[in-house]
Amino acid sequence: MTVSFTSRQIPVIGRFAPSPTGPLHLGSLVAALGSYLLARRSGGRWLLRMDDLDTPRVLPGMADDILRTLEALGFQWDGEVVWQSSRTDAYQAAFAELIDKGMVYPCGCSRQEIARIGSAPHSKDGELLYPGSCRNGLPQGKTPRAWRVKVTDEPVCFQDGIMGACCETLAESCGDFVVRRADGPFAYQLAVVVDDAAAGVNQVARGADLLSSTPRQLRLQRLLGYPIPDYWHLPLVTGPGGTKLSKRENAVSLAAGRDLAKTGGSLLLAALRFLGQATPTFPAIVTPREVLAWGVSNFDPAVIPRNSVPFPE
Ligand code: GLU
Repeated sequence: MTVSFTSRQIPVIGRFAPSPTGPLHLGSLVAALGSYLLARRSGGRWLLRMDDLDTPRVLPGMADDILRTLEALGFQWDGEVVWQSSRTDAYQAAFAELIDKGMVYPCGCSRQEIARIGSAPHSKDGELLYPGSCRNGLPQGKTPRAWRVKVTDEPVCFQDGIMGACCETLAESCGDFVVRRADGPFAYQLAVVVDDAAAGVNQVARGADLLSSTPRQLRLQRLLGYPIPDYWHLPLVTGPGGTKLSKRENAVSLAAGRDLAKTGGSLLLAALRFLGQATPTFPAIVTPREVLAWGVSNFDPAVIPRNSVPFPE
């Protein structure tokens, strides 16, 4: 049974883990700010990790742009930035442990084959439900394409700080899921739990687009004997009526030509209001540091909205 209703853990070790596949945008700004304030409000640590594992999607120069943008917005992280691209040995060790435990197996199915045999697509993130075709051995003539971890039909539950009680039965939502591609790279789901555990992260605050990944990560944490962090899934930034923001509306980064020394404070204030916070009236020009300091002393997690709302002007 993989039921976990966690209590809030102290001292908090939180983190922000951007993927350098593009510049910082409003959604990642909200994730940075939310994770920062949830950690710092109780005097906790806030770590920074660059999720640069998905090399085909990583864009040159973006990691640096994200770091400089965060600095310009007044964020200070604890310790060195961790780069997923330098953590392969740790992922390999966790993967070897899953092999030893008999919990992963090679799978030779292509996406088209899974679509043909599988039933409904994964309802939340478009992933296909894997029907377990290779669970009992690779069929003759098939070559491994990926390694999958076994799931069960017991619900995986957790208590999200914002979304409340969440439960998912992995056998029904995604089936045995990929932890490594046969050509080498480890999947995000494995890397994230290995990194969070290694860094002692006990509070994961991130965008609600990752809510559907959490049960898979809980499954891996249980199998690998890792502690379970507290989860906070922050509302997603959308335009009016839930529409997707254009690139220009969404851009936060220095690369997008923002003068964050002048406008960073008001941008952070807007992000605080987006997170439901009743901010006082600040002078027209307020520094990012002043806004962050107010947030650390006054941030109220109880008023963070569950649903996506438009980003304030
Ligand atoms: N790197 C992931 C992203 O930018 C976030 C990982 C996480 O917070 O768990 O979507």
